[in-house]
Amino acid sequence: MKKGNSEELIFLVPVCKHNIWGGVKLREEFGYPVEGNDIGECWGISAHPEGDGTVRDGRYQGRKLSELWEGHPELFGHLQYDRYPLLTKIIDAQDDLSIQVHPDDAYAKEHENGSLGKTECWYIMGCKEDATIVIGHNAKDEAELKEMVAQGRWQELIREIPIHKGDFIQIDPGTVHAIKADTLILETQQNSAITYRLYDYGRLQNGKPRELHIDKSLDVITVPAKSARDSVESISNLLENQLNQIYSCEKYTVFKLDVNGNAAFGQSYPFLAASVLEGTGQVDGKEVHKGDHFMIPFGYGNVEMKGSMSLILSTVER
Ligand code: ZN
Repeated sequence: MKKGNSEELIFLVPVCKHNIWGGVKLREEFGYPVEGNDIGECWGISAHPEGDGTVRDGRYQGRKLSELWEGHPELFGHLQYDRYPLLTKIIDAQDDLSIQVHPDDAYAKEHENGSLGKTECWYIMGCKEDATIVIGHNAKDEAELKEMVAQGRWQELIREIPIHKGDFIQIDPGTVHAIKADTLILETQQNSAITYRLYDYGRLQNGKPRELHIDKSLDVITVPAKSARDSVESISNLLENQLNQIYSCEKYTVFKLDVNGNAAFGQSYPFLAASVLEGTGQVDGKEVHKGDHFMIPFGYGNVEMKGSMSLILSTVER
């Protein structure tokens, strides 16, 4: 059902990734057609060279998201960015991830060949009871941080915080962080893959430890860390059938939309990158279900959704 829109919804075929900490959920629960029992990440809306999504159908079928960005800037409201700015992932961790930290844009530009830094955020789609996540650290100043790292006092240094389904976590550059086993998240991040590994629990891969990046980590870790209380926010009591802004920073704005019946809103942003977390429904007459990722382009106009489903959507500032 079109309402005079000249633009159409752009569904993407995600790129799935194999990771030693991955599992089978992304295939078995979300239906992504990928072999293996080590699927850790679904890059749902990505124009990154390491996982550039392909348009599934319609006018732009077969084109890469990066090609649309280059060749059809009107779909993104002619944004003044040098690349598609975001990357949306679903991450299924069946094992603890290594403990990491990301640089900001300035550090990455200087030390990582002009890459963007990485600000990211997580919406907890599912986790076990009594789950925790690693966010921040317990060092009071630079000297103590360096000492704890040099002496391998990881238990003391690493800070773990309880999490629940529906929590939202903003991870600014410089924040020590890691997902623990049995956690499913929707990640919205800058379009970057620059990660410094601080600690890997002493694990071995093919008989040897994975590379750590201690010096770069120490360069970028924020000391002291943001308080534990300010690190995790519970997203609840949102109004149904409307676009609820749950977070906004310089790098992105994130919305949650819980459709129960009918929802309608105007697409007034440069673009909206949408991911269906749960349920099924329709978007302007097109069937969608859990695991679908699509772009609502600039100038699309009014969006009508029906059904019973939850979505996370994101965009950037002009
Ligand atoms: Zn990260």
